Amino acid sequence: MLPFKIIFHPQYDLNLGPHVFPSEKFKLIRDALLAEGIAEPADFLEPQPAPNEDILRVHTPAYVNKLLTDSLTLSERMKLEIPLSEATRNGFWLAAGGSTLAGHKALEDGFAANLSGGFHHACPGHGEGFCMINDVAVAIRSLQAAGKIRTAMTVDTDVHHGNGTAEIFASDPSVFTLSIHQENNYPVPKPPSDEDIGLDDGTRDEEYLRALEKGLLRAFEKMKPDLIFYVGGADPFREDQLGGLALTLQGLQMRDRMVFEHARQRRIPVASTLAGGYARRVADTVRIHVNTILAARDVITQQLPAETK
Ligand SMILES: [Zn+2]
Repeated sequence: MLPFKIIFHPQYDLNLGPHVFPSEKFKLIRDALLAEGIAEPADFLEPQPAPNEDILRVHTPAYVNKLLTDSLTLSERMKLEIPLSEATRNGFWLAAGGSTLAGHKALEDGFAANLSGGFHHACPGHGEGFCMINDVAVAIRSLQAAGKIRTAMTVDTDVHHGNGTAEIFASDPSVFTLSIHQENNYPVPKPPSDEDIGLDDGTRDEEYLRALEKGLLRAFEKMKPDLIFYVGGADPFREDQLGGLALTLQGLQMRDRMVFEHARQRRIPVASTLAGGYARRVADTVRIHVNTILAARDVITQQLPAETK
């Protein structure tokens, strides 16, 4: 049994069929956690779809209305890069509800994982790059509105820059955004996060981890948030089809561990989300996300170290 909750819903699957986005990954991660005895059925919670009231704390009424009435323009559909269907709409509303629930549970238990979410390219008035709804932004605004948190930090380690999240919180001092990504990759342009770490093509484990640690230290100098949302993309992996960094499976797990340890030293709860992952073998993407759960379990069960400022 895990010392925290995992948020999952069978309808996270976006049913995209043959598509570079492996939409069956959500279920495969759940299955692997159970099959390997890492989690038991009682560790899982099913979310409700986020209420439209919460979606509208982030996204414009015009955009939400287009999603609900299936009236995106052709160019908006192309920018989204996945179809707008009952299954995808439902999947994104559930992902936003799941990240919100993960935030609530993280505040109780110190950590929680949503086995979806991290759709960091979704902007207030449009979706793009496989991201319809910015679940992490919806969760943060919902938790703030409920009085559960005042401040939050996003630590986004997906290989792609978190442009949507950066844009949403650009003028909001209550949310600190950190993105570590491949500089020479989608999206272009990259609206500034509070802390941007743009890496060269082919960056390997050691250099990556050094840059991440420096970025985390700079971020924590500026804010000690009430809650961190971790956007733990699997796509900095060296065999990713849409990424150009060169991290190994071990390097990625050290990345997760580093984020969780820095948070733990400062007594800051973490809610984690998946984001991207396009390894040639879906099994590698699944392994990277399973390893994130193992890293969290290791860190959370360690004796609490002396508090770091
Ligand atoms: Zn990505």
